[in-house]
Amino acid sequence: MKQYIMAMDQGTTSCRCILFDGRGEPVSSASKEFRQIYPAPGWVEHDPTDIWSTQIGVAQEAMLKARCTHRNIAAIGITNQRETTVLWDRHTGEPVCNAIVWQCRRTADMADELIARGLTEFFRERTGLPVDAYFSATKLRRMLDSVDGARRRAENGDLLFGTIETWLIWKLTRGRVHVTDYSNASRTMLFNIHSLRWDEDILRELDIPASLLPEAVPSSAHYGDSDPDVFGGPIPICGAAGDQQAALFGHACFAEGEAKNTYGTGCFLLMNTGEKPVRPGGGLLTTVAWGLRGRVVYALEGSVFVAGAAIQWLRDELRLIDTAAESERLAASVEDTGGVYMVPAFVGLGAPYWDPHARGAITGLTRGTGRAHLVRAALESIAYSTADLIAAMEKACGARLKALRADGGASANDFLMQFQADIIGARLMRPACTETTALGAAYLAGLAAGYWADEAEIRKLHGASAAFEPRMPEARREDLLAGWRRAVRSVTRRV
Ligand code: ADP
Repeated sequence: MKQYIMAMDQGTTSCRCILFDGRGEPVSSASKEFRQIYPAPGWVEHDPTDIWSTQIGVAQEAMLKARCTHRNIAAIGITNQRETTVLWDRHTGEPVCNAIVWQCRRTADMADELIARGLTEFFRERTGLPVDAYFSATKLRRMLDSVDGARRRAENGDLLFGTIETWLIWKLTRGRVHVTDYSNASRTMLFNIHSLRWDEDILRELDIPASLLPEAVPSSAHYGDSDPDVFGGPIPICGAAGDQQAALFGHACFAEGEAKNTYGTGCFLLMNTGEKPVRPGGGLLTTVAWGLRGRVVYALEGSVFVAGAAIQWLRDELRLIDTAAESERLAASVEDTGGVYMVPAFVGLGAPYWDPHARGAITGLTRGTGRAHLVRAALESIAYSTADLIAAMEKACGARLKALRADGGASANDFLMQFQADIIGARLMRPACTETTALGAAYLAGLAAGYWADEAEIRKLHGASAAFEPRMPEARREDLLAGWRRAVRSVTRRV
C-alpha cells in the first residue's frame, strides 16, 4: 500500500495541503483562500473556525484527488503563519474572539509602552526578539483585556491560547492535545529560547496566566493522532514548525552556516546558526529553527523590505516592463548597469542600516543610461540588499555563510540568481520543488514517523536543484559593493 506524508500549510491568505511521496515529490495538492477581516485601519483578523474548516476541506480534497484513505497517510506535518494569536474555550472549543493576525498593528501602543519602560533588553535576552506588536504576547494580552469576561475565564482555567499550529492540533485531536512546537513558541515573545520554557518573569510582567499556555514540544515528534471522525480513521500528527523555519528545513539547511532566502515581495532570510542562540545585532532576530531528536537548532532571521516589489514598481509605476519575467532578458542584454545603482528604500532601510526615515534613490545616471540599465539596477539591488543582510548575520554569529538556497517568485530569475551568487561569493541553489515550506513540515513529520530515516537520507532527495556558482572576479565584486555602499550612503547616514 502506498503511503504519503500530509503537509498542512496554513498561510496568511490561504490554506493548502500537499501529499508528498518518499522522494519528497508532491503527488496531490489542494488550496483555498479564506476570509480576511479588516475591522479598522491597520487591524487584521481571521476567524479560527473558518481556518479550521478550510484547512480540513483542502486536506480531504488532496486525499480524494490521490484516492487516499487515512491508511495511506503515514503522518501529518503542519506549517503555519506565525505569531497569529487564537484564544478559545477549552470546554466548548469556541474561540472567544477572532484571531489577531501577525500583521495587525492594534497593539503597537502597548509595544511602545514596553519599550518606553526600558524592557527592550529584558525581552531580547530571553526571547531573542525585539519588542513589537508583530509577536503574539501583546495580542494575547489585548484579548484578555478587551473581551468581556476573558480575564476571569482565563484565571478560572477555562481558556486556552495557541498559535495556529496549536489550534489545528487541538482541533484535529478533539481537544486531547494542547501543544506548540519550539519554533512557533519562539515567536510569541513569551518563550525563553534558552531554557525552552515559558518565561515566568515575562508572564508576570504581562500578567498572562500560565494555565492558558500550551506545552512546548519539539518540531518533530508524535503529538497524538487525529480523531477518527476527521479523516475516517486516526492519522499520527508528527511535526509542526512556523512557515519560515519549515522552509529552512525544507531546503535541507541542516548545518550551521546554511541559509535560505525567499525572494518574494520582500525577502525573508534565515540562517542556521547551530545549537547555540546567537545574540543578534540591529534589525536581526534570533529564533528557534526547530527541535529534533532532543536537539534544538537556532537561526538568525532578517528581512529585506523591498525586493520583488521593486520589479513591480518598474512594471506598474515606471512602466518600463510589461511583466516581472521580462526583467531577466532586459538585464542580461547589457554588460552592466553603467554605474547606475537603485536603492529601493521605499519604506526605509532594513538590517543592517535600520533607518525607517530613509527613502529611495537612483544614482549614477548618465545620458547613456537606458531602460535595460535601470531594470538591471533594480534586480541587482535585491542581491545587494540580501548580501548586506548576510554580512550582518555573519558578523553576529562569527561564521561564514556556506551556501544559500533560494525560493519565492523572483527566484525564477536566472540573472538575479547568478548575480546573487557572484555578489556573495558563495554557491546558490534553487530546488526543483518550490514547495519548500510544505516540504519542511512533511520532512519533520516523516522523520518522527520513521518514513525517512534521517537528515542524510533527506539531503539525497535534493539532487535535482539548479546551482549557481560564483564566478565574478574578487576585485570586480569589491568594486560593485563599494559602489552600492556609496549609493546607500546617499540616502542614509547609517552606513
Ligand atoms: P509573495 O509571496 O511575497 O506575494 P511571490 O513569491 O509570489 O511573492 O513573488 C512575487 C514577487 O516576485 C513580485 O514582487 C514579483 O515582482 C517578483 N517576480 C516574480 N517573477 C519574477 C521574475 N521572473 N523576475 C523578477 N521578479 C519576479
